[in-house]
Amino acid sequence: MARLQILELPEGSSDDRPPFVLVVDQVPTDEARFDVIRRDLLTDGDLAERLGARAVLVFEDTVDIPANDTTAYLGGSLPPDAHYEVTIGGQPVTWTPSDETQARAAEEGQRLANERTDIARDMDRLANHKAAITDALGINPLNGWDRIIEAAATLRQDRAEQAAALARVRNLHRPVEHNGQTICWECSAYDFECLTTDNSPVAHDQCGTHRALVGEQTHTQEQT
Ligand SMILES: [Zn+2]
Repeated sequence: MARLQILELPEGSSDDRPPFVLVVDQVPTDEARFDVIRRDLLTDGDLAERLGARAVLVFEDTVDIPANDTTAYLGGSLPPDAHYEVTIGGQPVTWTPSDETQARAAEEGQRLANERTDIARDMDRLANHKAAITDALGINPLNGWDRIIEAAATLRQDRAEQAAALARVRNLHRPVEHNGQTICWECSAYDFECLTTDNSPVAHDQCGTHRALVGEQTHTQEQT
């Protein structure tokens, strides 16, 4: 079966679309059957001229053009309602440079629209995160990022200072062994040199400060 192919030619500066030649290969060697094809090519004037082709090349042999996909011919004869569009570089032969410009513009417009959607989505996500952060920090959600960073840094510094203060208090009211009893260093006014207490010994587990540190309710707190 004869096959139709397009061979694209290098485009010149004066061409408004890529020039091409129409390639017809596998034409029948039988004269009568070839006449049928010749008639098809020449009916209603010159086919090359009507298609805008520079020429029509006809071969009895198979001529495979590397750029063309001829796999559609592998399935044998085409169904009667089959429709194949003649294309050059993936575009219909009626494609013109202005179509190209329009298609590029539409593509670029779509790309920009998608980009805007992505940016809007990112902004929404960022606004939600910012609201959550300002809420966690306990500051006004309208604060800028500089203020948010400053608040977080202050929070971290406060926490470090509080931890250091707690360590100092814990060290002051630390447990010491005295006459077989665990007493509070500070509350008992322990004298390390003489191994005596200036106050009556206070059992460490009765030290109000120690109990407050470990979260137990103290006698003092119950009164207030
Ligand atoms: Zn104590």
